[in-house]
Amino acid sequence: MTAGSALGEPCVLLKLGEVVLKGRNRELFEMRLRSNIKGALKDYRVEVRQRHGVIALFLPEGTADEVAEAVAKRVSDVPGIVLVHLARRIAKDPEAITKAAIELIKDSDEVSRNARFAVRSRRRDKRFPLRSNELDRLVGGTINDTYGLPVDLSRPELTVHIEVDKDEAFLFTGGLPGQGGLPVGSSGRALALLSGGIDSPVAAYRMMRRGLRVDFLHFSGIPFTTSESIYKAYALVRNLDRFQGKSRLWVVPFGKAQQSIKASGQDRLAVIAQRRLMLKTAEEVAHRIRAEALVTGDSLGQVSSQTLTNITAQDNAVDLPILRPLIGLDKTEIMAEARRIGTLQISELPDEDCCTLLAPRSAETRAKIEDLKQIERRLDAEDLAVQLADSIRPYKLDDFQQ
Ligand code: ATP
Ligand code: MG
Repeated sequence: MTAGSALGEPCVLLKLGEVVLKGRNRELFEMRLRSNIKGALKDYRVEVRQRHGVIALFLPEGTADEVAEAVAKRVSDVPGIVLVHLARRIAKDPEAITKAAIELIKDSDEVSRNARFAVRSRRRDKRFPLRSNELDRLVGGTINDTYGLPVDLSRPELTVHIEVDKDEAFLFTGGLPGQGGLPVGSSGRALALLSGGIDSPVAAYRMMRRGLRVDFLHFSGIPFTTSESIYKAYALVRNLDRFQGKSRLWVVPFGKAQQSIKASGQDRLAVIAQRRLMLKTAEEVAHRIRAEALVTGDSLGQVSSQTLTNITAQDNAVDLPILRPLIGLDKTEIMAEARRIGTLQISELPDEDCCTLLAPRSAETRAKIEDLKQIERRLDAEDLAVQLADSIRPYKLDDFQQ
């Protein structure tokens, strides 16, 4: 849009979710959210402004529509925001607002097919000369006169929104859904155990959305498997990074430890023994990076290692809390979310999962903690976990921006 047109400058309006319920902590949450937004938009020229109950991103005059759309799309990945509107900043004047509304919908599909419409105004500044319903009628009447569109207040196909703020009015039609939740970092830091599977990336995403900054730990069967699972883990973290930025991935070369577990001869317990060793290693790494919880993709009863008894045996291996946000979800629900966040297609690539090294013919569904501890004494599991934590390799992911 050319500068100085009736439409005013482009901007992006962000509606906040639970952040607004945070009472006295609200300031802190909003500060964190603004800083996360700035991080996500570091490649764009935007000014982040706090308005009453909304955050406005001001774009330079003359910004191309595609750039404004790209900003809106990018920021819709930042947790803590429920709705993103591509809007226009208009002078706080009924005539300017009316003109802009006419201009805004001029070339729209809705006008060309004579869609039913409504105007919805809100005043955050009560000193504005018109009340909301008066502004609705003024703008709606002019749209009706200009284009002949029928008004329909109960089920409009096109809604023109006007929000009159302290310094300006905002005008927009549609909106993009945000991720909801809380700003990343407002709940602390966690370490997610990331396999190449479908579940664990979704689990990590869910915890980011509850305000945790999540780092990633992947166990690879190397030197006895190929590096494919590492590439998958890398690709998954790269994808998930758009929700938090500055993600970190470490890979544990786990093949030799798995062989020792196998050599202990307790076939039916091998998978749970291995999971406990993963958790102990993860706990050691978590202490080193000051993470306060572990995250896994377990879902109750999904596979034999995830029966209630076996989950209890896993909790028993570590002191840190293990967060399992998918515990009550069905596989179809997890897959739908994986598809939505874009991890499913990566997870479905073939790889040689380290767990296949150990897959016994039949796995124990009711592992006894005493039996597991006996295996661990033979393995010297506590020492082994420290050694494994010493051997982690960082994968350079400091700058994931795609
Ligand atoms: P996923 O799809 O997340 O791999 P799954 O249904 O295959 O889960 P399991 O293989 O039993 O279930 O794994 C349960 C959880 O243990 C995973 O969600 C993940 O958090 C962790 N886990 C399993 N294998 C690995 C691995 N190789 N590296 C890191 N974490 C792992
Ligand atoms: Mg798996």
